[in-house]
Amino acid sequence: MPFLVGAEQGNAFRRPMPQSTDMVAYCKFLLVDEKGRYTQRNSSIQMVLCKEYLWVSEALSIPLAAIRNLGVADRIGVITYFDEIANESRNLRFTNLGFVGLKDEKVVAFLEVIEENLPIASSESSVNHPNADDRKGVIACEYCGSREASVYVFEVFQFFGLILLYYSYRLTPLRYVLCDQHAGKQVVTCSLRTGLLGYLGFPGCFAAPWYVCKNLWKLHRDGVATFKDTVLSVVMGIGVPVSLIAGVIYLLETSIGEP
Ligand SMILES: [Zn+2]
Repeated sequence: MPFLVGAEQGNAFRRPMPQSTDMVAYCKFLLVDEKGRYTQRNSSIQMVLCKEYLWVSEALSIPLAAIRNLGVADRIGVITYFDEIANESRNLRFTNLGFVGLKDEKVVAFLEVIEENLPIASSESSVNHPNADDRKGVIACEYCGSREASVYVFEVFQFFGLILLYYSYRLTPLRYVLCDQHAGKQVVTCSLRTGLLGYLGFPGCFAAPWYVCKNLWKLHRDGVATFKDTVLSVVMGIGVPVSLIAGVIYLLETSIGEP
């Protein structure tokens, strides 16, 4: 029996970070790819385990019932899980960097805690996963539960600080299961988040509007964009921040002009 991805529990693969009272274990790791290379500049993550799922980031949480295998190879931990939304098996690879090099004690210890908390029946659920034609019946909008839902990936682009005079940005792809109506609302929320923090510095002020448009384009491509959502996205994701920047530049110029 596949667990339901939908209204009953929100999006099972993107849950909130567990409250400290629900926390079973947590640990800092580095995410790596198949060859053991760090996947991105900011690949340090804090994994949080609670009774139902392993929280990896805002973009990913893994339901314990979806975990198929846990292993360590070359001091890299591998968690294999079945992603019901993508309808495929996926691997999450992570490692622990000590002062001298890779150390695996933390990785092994953390995997052991996960194993102790796995539901007993978890191996059964891989038997009967739906084929592509049945996808509409399995997934449901994570806000309203409508079965007329699709999978969307929307991106949030945000500035998060200056590191040695380099502006640093974080691009967060978030995978949602949404009906047409909530897809539009979600894009507006992503536009607002990009609009609030994406424009600080260079080249953020050029990249941010691009990511706002990219999310909007996905709505238009699927023919679910409404006039209201488009206008709201453009106003909050581009109009307001660009006006603010223009206003600041204007004020600076006029104040320089004064004696
Ligand atoms: Zn909905």
